[in-house]
Amino acid sequence: MAKSLVDQLAKKFTDHMNTAITSSLLQSLQCTQCGQTHSPFTSQTLSPCCQMPLVATYQLDRGVDKAELLTREKTLWRYAEVLPVLDPDNRVSLGEGFTPLLALPRLAKTQSLDRLTLKDEGLNPTGSFKARGMSLAISKAKENGEKACIVPTAGNAGVAMAAYCARAGMEAVVVMPRHTPDAFREECLAYGATVILVDGLINDCAAKVRELNRHGDYFDVSTLKEPYRLEGKKTMGYEIAEQLTWQLPDVIMYPTGGGTGLIGIWKAIREMQSLGWLLPGQPLPRLVAVQAQNCCPIVDTFWGIQANSKQYIGKPTLANGLAVPRPIGEPLILEALQESKGTAIAVSDEEMLEGVSELGRHEGIFAAPEGGALWAATKQLLHEGWLQPNEHILLLNTGSGQKYLDNLKGIWPR
Ligand SMILES: *Cc1c(COP(=O)(O)O)cnc(C)c1O
Ligand SMILES: [Zn+2]
Repeated sequence: MAKSLVDQLAKKFTDHMNTAITSSLLQSLQCTQCGQTHSPFTSQTLSPCCQMPLVATYQLDRGVDKAELLTREKTLWRYAEVLPVLDPDNRVSLGEGFTPLLALPRLAKTQSLDRLTLKDEGLNPTGSFKARGMSLAISKAKENGEKACIVPTAGNAGVAMAAYCARAGMEAVVVMPRHTPDAFREECLAYGATVILVDGLINDCAAKVRELNRHGDYFDVSTLKEPYRLEGKKTMGYEIAEQLTWQLPDVIMYPTGGGTGLIGIWKAIREMQSLGWLLPGQPLPRLVAVQAQNCCPIVDTFWGIQANSKQYIGKPTLANGLAVPRPIGEPLILEALQESKGTAIAVSDEEMLEGVSELGRHEGIFAAPEGGALWAATKQLLHEGWLQPNEHILLLNTGSGQKYLDNLKGIWPR
């Protein structure tokens, strides 16, 4: 695979002598456990050294002028230097990213808040921010010569993978819990994917993926077992900074399942510091991991109720994307919470539905239950005094409510 990529690039090079093939500053893949570096020019999954997530590093000292961004396309691909795709022809895109950042004045007023904003990821292709990760993962899979992909999912990741695989001409196998709302399965089928239903949660789906893939027929795009979904999701951090003209909010509320977005936003902030896009000493946002009471392994570890989530047993929640009982990225999530002086909090399914309803009634935003959970958690943290009414609070609404109708039926106040 490495060879085909090198050949491909060599051919490009002779085709366009003297023109830059790539603007990507990709440097290596680094093991998050021991720091050892591995080649970013072949297909990689977990680190060969420790079987832990690999993260991409870039030559950030090469310098990129952020003023250049102004001329670029309004998708996540505007950050090409800090994305891993080497040949622009390998981009598999449906127009993902650069979602709106909306002020929520009417909702803010209900709690006497000065500044409440929401980044609406429900407007991405396939209706969630999973499009960001999958656009990058499938683009890199294509660049590395992969032909077929498989993924365990709580719903949105499977839909996004199915769409991007269709766009890339690749085969897709999606393994999801049987209780996932029908709309997720139907949309995967619309993209021509094979859908396999499993009794249990995403960790049971992951076991099924291992069994189906015992001969290695598929490239496994499981979150953080594949290094580049993180790179797609980190672009939310770049966009928040750019859309706020490089002044970050005080707090980012993030609905945390596998934690890829949370880890990604923190990675983006660190990268922007290295690029000089943020000023030295500029205040950074506190990150809040919001989870469902039915499945809150990060909250329990953060508050010392358990040493880690390796034995955690979760229950299903209406916020399907939060039902991740044993996230492999747990150490990285905790690191981001600690470094940012953030916190972790769980809300009930009833509270998140009320959050969905309030976002809808006051602001015309139909959020996924994961997004509703953010508003519920915000009210709780205000009540506890952890959040102040004069702070700029950003809700990262990860998905649209449209696929969750099975979960939302009949909740509206009349
Ligand atoms: C997957 C998902 C999440 C959790 O995202 P992570 O980055 O894995 O924590 C939250 N909300 C929605 C709508 C999702 O699909
Ligand atoms: Zn290692």
